[in-house]
Amino acid sequence: MMPPVLFPVAPVLIPVCRSNSHFQVRRIYCVGRNYAAHAREMGGDPTREPPFFFQKPTDAIQVVLPGTILEHAYPPMTANYHHEVELVAAIGKGGRNIAAGTALDHVVGYAVGLDMTRRDLQRAMAEQKKPWEVGKSFDHGAIIGQLHLASDIGHVALGAITLTVNGQSRQSSDLAHMTWSVAEQVANLSQYYELFPGDIIYAGTPENVGPVVLGDLIVATIAGLDEIHVRIVA
Ligand code: MN
Repeated sequence: MMPPVLFPVAPVLIPVCRSNSHFQVRRIYCVGRNYAAHAREMGGDPTREPPFFFQKPTDAIQVVLPGTILEHAYPPMTANYHHEVELVAAIGKGGRNIAAGTALDHVVGYAVGLDMTRRDLQRAMAEQKKPWEVGKSFDHGAIIGQLHLASDIGHVALGAITLTVNGQSRQSSDLAHMTWSVAEQVANLSQYYELFPGDIIYAGTPENVGPVVLGDLIVATIAGLDEIHVRIVA
């Protein structure tokens, strides 16, 4: 008798605002150091170097349902677990070598996301010139709120992006301070990878990333999008 070799996996779904539909996630891309002030705090060069990308596994997604507080488990193997609030752009139409001028035609919607980071592991690996995969690509490391369709709210390029912990301001910036716009990110990324419907891009975090501990309540907001609430639990 052959052992089982097929393991059906549930699709990873993000609810779509003002509908009963869901967006199915295919791949998760993230851009690094996309705000000059955050590039500086990470020890990088704040000049306009080309964007760089990393991925998270699709099943790292943890959805925050509207009006709820997500209970998010503090992950293993870290003592310096950081929040990064980010705009997330969702690809609705694929392509490769997409021009920046038409790139937004490929973006179907936007959400508020948290690129959660095991900063101690990321830094330790970077210092050894090893891939910092373990600092970024782990279970539940990609938190996201509901998707807002561009056909409802337009494309999101400006506006406040904030994060509080227990009511205290931690991150506060404006999407206008992104080094590379979503359109430019899509254009650049599509030179390296063929993009497909269902791909999402975490568009980088502003400055003042920092640690969370058990019991902390994170509230992340982007102007025009549904805010997300996350409690750090054991
Ligand atoms: Mn990030």
